[in-house]
Amino acid sequence: MAGRTDLTSYAYRKARARFLADNDVCHICGHPAANVIDHVRPVAAGADPRDQDNWAPAHGVTKCPTCGRNCNGTKGATTTGPRLVTSRDWYA
Ligand SMILES: [Zn+2]
Ligand SMILES: [Zn+2]
Repeated sequence: MAGRTDLTSYAYRKARARFLADNDVCHICGHPAANVIDHVRPVAAGADPRDQDNWAPAHGVTKCPTCGRNCNGTKGATTTGPRLVTSRDWYA
């Protein structure tokens, strides 16, 4: 059972949704309504993508309703999923 496949699993998405339901204040801009998980230590640097201690709420492609930022996309090291690849191109 490789851990990587869990990234797309129902359990992971459910955990992510629950995390965001409990923590919706973006750790980058400090405004509410965060809708993606940011990884504090980049997964590319060896962090476990499922380690919730390493999760932080952030705004993604739908952007912050308060300041209008795509916080996670602006930060660069996007690790939350394939959907954000498009937004990275916009901000590259
Ligand atoms: Zn934000
Ligand atoms: Zn904001």
